[in-house]
Amino acid sequence: MKKRQIVKIDADRCTGCGLCVSPCAEGAIEIIDGKARVIREELCDGAGFCLGACPEGALSIEEREAPEFSEQAVEEHLHNRPKTYIVQTCFNCGRSEEKRILLPCRKDGQSLWVCTRCLPPLIHG
Ligand code: SF4
Repeated sequence: MKKRQIVKIDADRCTGCGLCVSPCAEGAIEIIDGKARVIREELCDGAGFCLGACPEGALSIEEREAPEFSEQAVEEHLHNRPKTYIVQTCFNCGRSEEKRILLPCRKDGQSLWVCTRCLPPLIHG
């Protein structure tokens, strides 16, 4: 095994709210016994898209020895897992990710989704 970046979950801080599950495009995080877990390390690419979704600051990136990230494992995992997917919506306009590209964001202590059409006016006022 080589050293690489991978997500670290602080179980003491994790409340099991599940907000970090859907930002992970690889499906690497699941809630098990009330806590977020990286279910298989080869599914986590260490990109950290889940970090901003956590209201508790329970997620971070660490560098340590871990199995290499595997796109093939991700493909098989996403193909085989049961459909538990919940379509997300933009907090500003309410359009779903089926109509718009959504990005994770933080506002007033909340983890939210914003679409690419609503984001520029929010940035520039
Ligand atoms: S978002 Fe944070 S608190 Fe919620 S399940 Fe994920 S790690 Fe736990």
